[in-house]
Amino acid sequence: MVERVYLAKPRGFCAGVVMAIEAVEKAARELREEGELVVYHAIVHNDVVIQRLQDRHGVHFVEDLSEVDALREELAKAGRKLNETVVFSAHGIPPWLRTEAARRNLHQIDATCPLVTKVHSEAKRYAREGYWILLIGDSADHQEIKGTRGEAPENTILVAVHTHVGRDPRLADPRTVEVPDPEKVVVLTQTTLSVDDTLATIEILKRRFPRLVVPSRHDLCYATKNRQDAVKQIAPHVDLFLVLTSLASSNGMRLLELARSLVGRAERINTVHDIRPEWLQGVRRVGITSAASTPDDLVQEVVAYFRGLNPNLEVVEEGEWEDIEFREPKRLSPQEVLAN
Ligand code: SF4
Repeated sequence: MVERVYLAKPRGFCAGVVMAIEAVEKAARELREEGELVVYHAIVHNDVVIQRLQDRHGVHFVEDLSEVDALREELAKAGRKLNETVVFSAHGIPPWLRTEAARRNLHQIDATCPLVTKVHSEAKRYAREGYWILLIGDSADHQEIKGTRGEAPENTILVAVHTHVGRDPRLADPRTVEVPDPEKVVVLTQTTLSVDDTLATIEILKRRFPRLVVPSRHDLCYATKNRQDAVKQIAPHVDLFLVLTSLASSNGMRLLELARSLVGRAERINTVHDIRPEWLQGVRRVGITSAASTPDDLVQEVVAYFRGLNPNLEVVEEGEWEDIEFREPKRLSPQEVLAN
């Protein structure tokens, strides 16, 4: 029987996710008179969050701005109206998308996390200075990678984390990657990778390119690092780790890999309903963490489930919450975007 659960702290929502979800909820609420809101891409990579925004706020999600026209028509036929505003997700977008939205006469609210925007700024700056950018990421299809690469597509070469070589054949192996000018190379990264594996990958690249520039503060964000550190703290005490994350969440899947490597037994769940009783056989102590996009009520449901099995359950929660907030993004008109 499970006697004790260890809750990772911090876990769950980071400042970028809070900012992005609040931006959508606020826009859906305050601009309701103007019609139903559209968000480009999943605002954050969590299925429950997306479902709630659809159900509670009537938000529509698109993967291509061309879908907006069809949506407008569909709503009009049903006597409903589309809000001529698009919200961009926390993962960031390539710059051409901003222009395309403006050309389509859409207002825009850019909920890109400021820590992703920082990496975009680095990409622009180094490309302007003639550097080759080695961009370490998860997959060429990850929204954050598409956005960052979009700042300097001609100068950017995608590179896999050294432990994930071959998962996406479009990402180069850090041990063999070539650049046209090895004297002018910089490394940038997706914000949500494994901290240890990314630092090891950067070391491999440094050996390959002795003049490699590593921006003074590497790009992995505070939330990624803190959630991974919290898993490391708990791992020695538990027999099983449960990680609440959607499959699409990069930081969540890295937490799962880390927990699995440290504990041996780690399972991914979206909600409490995914827990399989056979996982708990012989398990007395369970560690629980959640991705930066997982709402904490889902974690509390898991705790309630274990308390239902054992009323004397002990819940251990040590560590510190983060105290970081990001400013809400402004709505910009198409004219304002095109004038920039
Ligand atoms: Fe920003 Fe990091 Fe949260 Fe991503 S995980 S939204 S980069 S704070």
